[in-house]
Amino acid sequence: MENIYPVYDQLISRAEKEQFLNQKACVFWLTGLSGSGKTTIAKHVERVLFNKGFFIQTIDGDNVRSGLCNNLSFSLEDRKENIRRIAELTALNIRQGIICINTFVSPTKAIREMAKEIIGEKDYFEIFINTPLEACEKRDVKGLYKKARAGEIKGFTGIDSPFEKPDRPSLTISTESSIQESASQLINFMMSKVVLT
Ligand code: ADP
Repeated sequence: MENIYPVYDQLISRAEKEQFLNQKACVFWLTGLSGSGKTTIAKHVERVLFNKGFFIQTIDGDNVRSGLCNNLSFSLEDRKENIRRIAELTALNIRQGIICINTFVSPTKAIREMAKEIIGEKDYFEIFINTPLEACEKRDVKGLYKKARAGEIKGFTGIDSPFEKPDRPSLTISTESSIQESASQLINFMMSKVVLT
């Protein structure tokens, strides 16, 4: 493959950085409806793994949309651009040896495919947070479903914008059980990928 980042040849390698951090870098890409539990699970998991000595970066929709992507709307085209930027950022961070957790609705198969392509298949693990729409709507953590039903928000995923379930996620987490149980499913999966051998 053509080396499009020649500067990396002169920088400390990913392998050396992974050795330094004593971990294998990759991304755990959490996809699911708004309110499905992506951020809640990520927060929990990040703390547990950090306490075990892993260096992790979690990025989610809210912190990206207030800065890096603050010029983008929620049209499908802008959602794609949002995910493209995040995927590029993630690819850079993986090169630094960092374990990444990304929590984005990332609603369509095409959008997630694009992310996987940018990051590279071997470093990309898709985690489907499989909470049914009814449950998300009942939780309505941020009051967004109510607004979407009232027509105050247009193009809201699950209401008047599509969510395509992943066909073959690396892991599916159902959030019918407790937050601890959902988190430990992800922790177990992550531990099988991030330990340097
Ligand atoms: P998202 O990031 O997907 O939009 P949030 O994490 O912000 O979703 O909200 C999920 C809500 O669901 C939180 O209020 C959380 O307490 C609740 N919840 C209930 N059970 C679970 C579970 N097993 N896993 C994750 N969240 C859960």
